[in-house]
This record gives sequence, structure tokens and C-alpha cells, in this order.
Amino acid sequence: MRAAVMHEPNRPLVIEEVDVESPKAGEVVVELAASGVCRSDLHAWHGRTAFITPPVVLGHEGAGIVAEVGPGVTGVAKGDPVVIALYGPCGQCGECRTGDVTRCWSETRVHNMHGRMPDGTTRLSLGGRPLTPMVGAGTLAEIAVVREAQLVKIDRGIPLGLACLAGCGVTTGVGAVLNVAQVRVGSSVVVIGCGGVGLNVVQGARIAGATRILACDTQSEKLDLAADLGATDGLLVREGEDLAEAIRGLVPGGVDYAFEVIGRPEVVRTAFASTRIGGTTVMVGSPAPGSEIAVDGRMLFSDRRLLGTTGGGNIPARDIPRLMQLYRTGRLELERLVSQRLPLARVNEAFTALERGEGARTVIDLRS
Ligand SMILES: [Zn+2]
Ligand SMILES: [Zn+2]
Repeated sequence: MRAAVMHEPNRPLVIEEVDVESPKAGEVVVELAASGVCRSDLHAWHGRTAFITPPVVLGHEGAGIVAEVGPGVTGVAKGDPVVIALYGPCGQCGECRTGDVTRCWSETRVHNMHGRMPDGTTRLSLGGRPLTPMVGAGTLAEIAVVREAQLVKIDRGIPLGLACLAGCGVTTGVGAVLNVAQVRVGSSVVVIGCGGVGLNVVQGARIAGATRILACDTQSEKLDLAADLGATDGLLVREGEDLAEAIRGLVPGGVDYAFEVIGRPEVVRTAFASTRIGGTTVMVGSPAPGSEIAVDGRMLFSDRRLLGTTGGGNIPARDIPRLMQLYRTGRLELERLVSQRLPLARVNEAFTALERGEGARTVIDLRS
């Protein structure tokens, strides 16, 4: 099968012919139909992700059809449409058993982060050398071998070229609103950074019933897209301007909820400074390791909350089917999130677009 392999950071991915082993107990072979390209793929490509060691198959936002199951697999069968979740939890630790699968930090999960099965091996190889799939997914490929625990079966009839977005970007953005902040009906929300995840924070806020949704970005096209997805106000961010003051100008006293979706400490500070007394700030973006975030202590003292999240507090088995239902009933927009579709052979163009901040999401069509 063909896969987009990163041999070293910052060098173009190479489409390679990769060998795939048969699934072992609890493992499933998925014929991938589509994969989104996410900012975390770009971070990995830049060599910024500690647990990713080349050679690696990038991609972690994929959907496809089950092609084969290993011994003991009971939850999915050949022919089932599935989304590959961002996490491969162990299913046995205290966190997993209480549902907090994103907080699983068992040996199985650590292996999964490194693209290995629980026994430390991988089912992929290139010229006889082991090849790991990013976070156990490796969706920029025609085939993925994943543990059953990392798969979520979805209803037939949902286009896989859209369902793939539920693997990371949509679940993270909507989950940050519904699971982490728990935005209330009638509240005011600001979203700083309207890329692939930020646009889903906007959608999540609309789904939650927020009545004022301020979208902030440096690009007016993204604000237009945010408006289509539910933003009531757009703020074009310009260098040197006090964004918190601009937000407070629109919502006197500050907003109920602020979401930082970039991963920069100074933007978290701005988000926090734009909230009202009792307001909640959620850092959805992923900051560089070691970065420190300074906020006004007096403001924090005034009943404000500053929260972090990895992946929007999702429980994939619960949240991905919910998102698919929201899509089916017309409340979750997926098509508008896709700015371009490319064949695997042109995968490097998706990374260039991300780097330039162009468009929302590139989806790689893995059947072409
Ligand atoms: Zn992602
Ligand atoms: Zn666990």
C-alpha cells in the first residue's frame, strides 16, 4: 500500500510503497477513504513533537472501511464504516474505566502515542525496517492497522470524506465548547484563531446556544467562514491593537467564555483578559513546550477560570456518533470546512497551505 512517509523533519513527505502485516489479536485493518491534514501534522513535520520519530506515516484524522479484523475483535466487522479516533486508550486503567479516556496514561497509551502496538511493535515496514504510524493512526496512507479501541463505527451513508474530520479537528473544537467549557444557552463567546479547530469552536458555540459569538482572526476570509458557521461578529486582528479591549468594546464587562485556538501564551493572556467576572477561558491551542503563561492575578482572583484541554475532553465512542447525528440533522456543518481535496500524491501541498494559513482544511482523498 502507498503511504506518505516523513523521513526527516521539514523535508517533503515521500509517497512510499509500505508493507503491511496481518492484524493480530484486537487489531483491525482499515482501508482509508480520506484523511484531513491537521496542524498537529504540521508540528510533527516541523520536528516539534517529541514522541514522533521518523520514519513515520503522518496523519491522524481519517475515516475508512474495515477490511479485515484480527482475533477477538467484536465491535466492528468487515465492511463497517469507521472513524479513527485520536486516542488509543488501554481500556483498563482508572481513567479509562471512568470514561476519561483522553487522560489514560498507561503503557499502552504511551506506546500508542509513539505509533506502537501494546507489545511495542508496528504492523508497517519499509524495505524491512519498522515504520510507525503517527499516534497509532497514520492516516495519510491507503491502509491503517489500528487497535479496535481506537476505532469508532459510524452509520452508513455519511460521506467518509467528511466523517474523517471527526477524527480530530471537529471533535476538538466542538468538544472544547460542550465538554470542557460547557457553554450555557444565551451566553457570549469569543474565539481567537479561526483555523480548522477554531471554526469548530464557533460551530460548537452555536450548537450550545450562545447568542453572541465573536470570531477573531488575522484573515478576513476566515472571518467570512466563521460568520457562515455561526459567528455573530468578526474582528480582524491587526498587529499592535489591543484585542481584549476591542472585545470588551463589543461585549461590555467581557465575554462569558473565551477560547484560544492558536497555542501562543500572549494570546491566552488576551483571551483571559477579555472575560467577564466569573468567565471561563479555555486554551485549545497547543503551546510550545516550556512556554509560560502570565495572567493578571487580580483577574483570576475574581472567580475567573483558566482551563487547558487536549483534544476537547472527548470520549470518542460517545462524541463521534453524536457529531455524526448533529451533521445528519443539519446542525453541524462539515462540507464548508473543507477548503480543498487533493490526491495522496499531492499531500505536500496540504502542508504548504497549512503553513501559509490558507483555507480551513485540506482533505486527502485516499482512493484516487
Ligand atoms: Zn489533529
Ligand atoms: Zn487507560
